[in-house]
Amino acid sequence: NSRLKKTGGRYLLNSHNIELNKKYLTEHGQKELEGIIKHELCHYHLHLEGKGYKHRDKDFRTLLKEVGAPRFCTPLAEEKKPQRKVRTYKCEACGQTFLRKRKMDTSR
Ligand SMILES: [Zn+2]
Repeated sequence: NSRLKKTGGRYLLNSHNIELNKKYLTEHGQKELEGIIKHELCHYHLHLEGKGYKHRDKDFRTLLKEVGAPRFCTPLAEEKKPQRKVRTYKCEACGQTFLRKRKMDTSR
């Protein structure tokens, strides 16, 4: 889905569709995209099962660990602004925003 510009993917709660950013494939490669798919699928499955599907929920964190999915998406190149020291990580699926002063290891 090329409409997605800022995030690697998102899970739509109503339609149960998972949208993925095509740009991620070209910028970060297939492995990164697989991580995003896993991440969004964790939202998907837990939501359908009525479990905690948000980032802070223990169910979500546990499932991410089990499948080896990243907790955060790697920001796209256009989002990396050198003059800004505080980085914002947002997941479109849950709308949760994270602020980090230093670049995070998004593979964790
Ligand atoms: Zn998420």
